[in-house]
Amino acid sequence: MEKLSNISNIKSILSRHGFTFSKSLGQNFLINPSVCPRMAAECGAGAGVGVIEIGPGIGVLTCELARLADKVVSVELDKRLIPVLDETLAEFDNVKIINDDALKVDFHKLIEDEFKGMSVCICANLPYYITSPVIMRLLELKLPIQAITVMVQKEAAQRICAEVGTRQSSALTVAVNYYAKAQLLFNVSSGSFMPAPKVDSAVIRLNINKTPPVYVTDEELLFKIIKAAFGQRRKTLSNSLGAGLNIEKTKLNAMLESSGIPANYRAEQLTLQNFASLCNEMTGEG
Ligand code: SAM
Repeated sequence: MEKLSNISNIKSILSRHGFTFSKSLGQNFLINPSVCPRMAAECGAGAGVGVIEIGPGIGVLTCELARLADKVVSVELDKRLIPVLDETLAEFDNVKIINDDALKVDFHKLIEDEFKGMSVCICANLPYYITSPVIMRLLELKLPIQAITVMVQKEAAQRICAEVGTRQSSALTVAVNYYAKAQLLFNVSSGSFMPAPKVDSAVIRLNINKTPPVYVTDEELLFKIIKAAFGQRRKTLSNSLGAGLNIEKTKLNAMLESSGIPANYRAEQLTLQNFASLCNEMTGEG
């Protein structure tokens, strides 16, 4: 297949299939030829590795992944792209396309059915409208995978990779840190896409933790606390958690104190261990 990142090739393939871009599906296709080989090389694809891709578009990243990995399974929601992918990926016998929604696919079954005996990683140029839900779903499912390498908006990348306990951190930073170690790989300019989005992008890699870095008795509660604390991030924890978790203030302040957290702290000042201590205090295991 002629270079899929070449604009005139892309235009000719898409016009032959009568394809028009859908903004609501986050369709910005890569046209910078250096990005996909680099993503494929840095996501962990190689011999003995199976890769799950989300949103292959016309298959520009899929091709590079298929060259390196034993097998690639790509999940694409837009059924208009299936005949396009049949054409662009015709030379590869190690690629399977699934027409489904990445927010609904049974990834545990997919890995069991498609990647027996292989080490598995995920690689995707994510549709930006579902960056956080896709990342959180992939992490919360606790899949048997090594790493998740994704292209996201630059601001989202900076937020996810920020250090917990700093002003740049967010609920997503803390949640991601529970499951993985986040690493910013490289930046990608908006001109690398067709159509060009308004903002730049970056590729990040989440190296999945074998065990969480902190112990909590109730994971669901931990994430509720994180969400409530950052839900009103300008307020002190005494106020944000009191309102968000509906806990009486004196009781909450006592629990914060027992966890070694000043009640006038804000969410962004807490470490993951602070959140875990508070969670365990709330379940009576502090
Ligand atoms: N990988 C291609 C590339 O880099 O050129 C396309 C990336 S484009 C940013 C995002 C892709 O995700 C599109 O092909 C879009 O149709 C697909 N997509 C959008 N929502 C999806 C979902 N919920 N599940 C699976 N794919 C989705």
